[in-house]
Formats: sequence, structure tokens, C-alpha cells
Amino acid sequence: MSDTPNTNSQTAGAVDSPNAFEVTAQQITRAADCLKLSEDWRTCLVAPQRVILLEMPVVMDDGSLKMFKGYRVQHNNARGPYKGGLRYHPDVHLDEVKALSSWMTWKCAVLNVPFGGAKGGVQCDPAKLSRRELEQLTRRFTKELGDNIGPHIDIPAPDVNTNAQIMAWIYDTYSVHHHNDVAKGVVTGKPVELGGSLGRAAATGRGGFLVLKEALESGHIEGLSSLKGTKICVQGFGNVGSHFCKLAHDAGALITGIAQVEGGIVSSEGLDPYAVEAHIRATGQILDFKGAKNITNAELLLQPCDILVPAALENQINAQNAPKISARAMLELANGPTTPKADESFQQRGITVIPDILANAGGVTVSYFEWVQNFSHDIWSEEDVNRKLAFRMSESYAKVRETAAQYDTTLRNAAYIVAIERVVNAMKTRGFYPG
Ligand code: GLU
Repeated sequence: MSDTPNTNSQTAGAVDSPNAFEVTAQQITRAADCLKLSEDWRTCLVAPQRVILLEMPVVMDDGSLKMFKGYRVQHNNARGPYKGGLRYHPDVHLDEVKALSSWMTWKCAVLNVPFGGAKGGVQCDPAKLSRRELEQLTRRFTKELGDNIGPHIDIPAPDVNTNAQIMAWIYDTYSVHHHNDVAKGVVTGKPVELGGSLGRAAATGRGGFLVLKEALESGHIEGLSSLKGTKICVQGFGNVGSHFCKLAHDAGALITGIAQVEGGIVSSEGLDPYAVEAHIRATGQILDFKGAKNITNAELLLQPCDILVPAALENQINAQNAPKISARAMLELANGPTTPKADESFQQRGITVIPDILANAGGVTVSYFEWVQNFSHDIWSEEDVNRKLAFRMSESYAKVRETAAQYDTTLRNAAYIVAIERVVNAMKTRGFYPG
């Protein structure tokens, strides 16, 4: 059953905004066809193993009581503890969290990181909460999750609108409730002084940058051979988009457009992401950047460019705007930014899509490095972290490319084939309790 507010995909002529969980079922089915998996296996791979729904009371600063909905969905732990971020957003709903948890399972499997998949969400607008309210809500959520999370059970991390400070509160609350055990491995994306990994904040953007660089330099994107002079438009300038922009800019790419929720800016000569960041810090918005033209968020996606990088939310690229997109390739730094209909349109037009479960996997890969450092009581240099990340991204990209050639299919379907094969093998080898 869906609790999605935007199930308008069924209405004739309506915006193509499919239910994200139904999208995961389609993606799994497509790969399962190639792997000739039975109906029961498909059901098993689509359905999450556990769903936790919470109603959480928080006393607000004015003394009033407010209720918040919280979710944690544990999709699959065949290959290791459940792993995945925690999202704070007013539109968070159960089917979205279920989809995001499924994408984590496949992402960890594509990267061969020994984790399963999970995701959490709290329906709230953090911009409207004070720091105290945010802390109360986070600590209440952690307490309610109880033993459903833990360093070997389920390990949250940052996602949309959550950050290292929120991870620190989860870590502290969990530790206090577990006999003051210093359970550093219960969350990743922690502040560095509390056991966070160097390089974690930039890791998702860096991972995407590395895959794109490799795809360009190996001649896999028609008509382009390096980042130098390549025109890139980026939707989303949060933690992921901003780090990606800086790395691509430093490598000689031209960031010709950037958008945030309030709108975007374009310049054919290229935007300096460091200056854009300083402008946002000074003025509180991206608009009216010196030398650039203001546009809407929707217009950003239609700007002429070589590479389009969605780094915000789901369903941004759909049946309506996909045919008008002129980029030669897409790098999905968001989770689920492209609807299946848009995907079809790109496939017909020969536009390469580097899929989310590969392109944005740098974050969880360095989360894994953080977790390993926590257990070995070690601290790796940033150089070491980045080198290990580069190795894993490159290895996974090669595996996905090879599989795409073998099955004569898209990179997205190939990534699912790689991931599903690994998860199914793990499940078969473990067997099914009680056997
Ligand atoms: N939220 C990130 C993602 O969607 C990172 C998850 C993690 O590090 O566990 O991949």
C-alpha cells in the first residue's frame, strides 16, 4: 500500500511523478528478467525486510506539543548490517523511504561494500525548527529506534537536510542508552573529532566526479574525451552538488549552470563554485550572482550543456522534460532523479545515464571506511581515503560497463544485474532460517 501523496501518474495527462517504491520494483524486475529469477525471488528482493513507523512527540520552544512521523526501513541485510542515511524533509513518506532503502541495498552491492540497505526519514522542515527542537527530535527518534540500530545491526548516516551534528546526537543518545558504551560505529558521517572519516563530507561528490572523469577519458561518452572545457549543469548545491562542482571546476570543466530550490544561475563562460558558495553564504540565496543570469529550477534542466547532474531529489527528470534535455550524458548524484519514462527516452536517443546506485555511491563507500577506522581504532589520512575511494569507484564502474556489454543493456540495468546477483548469492549461501 502506498501513502504517497503524489500518485498522480495514473491521471491522464498528469505530470510523470511515479511512486518511488514502484520504480524500484520495475528496476528489479528488469534485471531479474536478465537473470531469469523466479517470481518468489522478485518478491523477496522488492519487499523490505522490516518497516518501523514512529509517532514522536516533541515539546517545542513555545511550550506546545508537536507530533512528528518517523520511519526507518530495513530493506536487506544479506551482505552485512543494514546501512543508509536519515532524511529530514516535509515530504518524507513511507514509500519514498522504502525506495531509498532498496537503492541502498543495490548501491552497497554494486560497490561490493559489505553492508545491506536501509533508510530513515523524519517528516519535518528542519529550517523551521530551532537547534534545541532539532536535537530533541533527533534524540527521541534514536531512543525510539532502540536496538533496531547498532554498529552491527543498522548504521544511519547523513542524507538530505541532515549532517554531522545530527549524527553526533544519534551517537551520543545511543551510547548513553547502551551503558555508556562508546559505540562510534553506530553512525557514520560523524564530526571528525568524534571518529568521523576525513574525506567523508566530499565523498559523494568525489565519487561521482571520479566515475564521470573515467567515463569521459575512456571515450565512453560520445563526442567528449575529458573534463576540460566540458559544460556541466548541476541541480542541487548542497553537500553533494557543491563538492562535485568544485572538483569538476578544478579539473577544467565549465560549470555553466547551478540551481537550488529558489532558482538557479547560468553563465556560458562558467561559474566559479567557490565564489557561488561565498555568495550564498553572504546573501542567503543563489540568485543574483554577479555576471550570471537568473533562471528557474525547471529551466536549469533544459539548459544546453554536455553533462547534466541532478543532485537534489527524486523524479526531477521525467517524461515531460526528458525529450527537451540536450545533454549527452547524465550523472545521477541524487537518488532516483530520473523516472523510468525519462530513462526510456534517453535510451532511445543514445544519451548515457550513469545511474545513482553507482554514481552517488562514494558517500556510503567512505561511510564504510569510517566504520572500519572506528573498529580498528585507526585514523586514515585524507589522501589514503581518497585513494581507496578512487580504486573502488573505478573497479565498480569497470564491472558495470563489462556487464552492460555482456547483456547489451544500459548502465542502470547492468548495475542492478551486478547488485542483484551478489545479493542473491549471499542469500542462497546463507540459506533460509530455519532451513
Ligand atoms: N545518504 C547517502 C546515500 O544515499 C549515504 C548513506 C551512508 O553513508 O550510509 O548514499
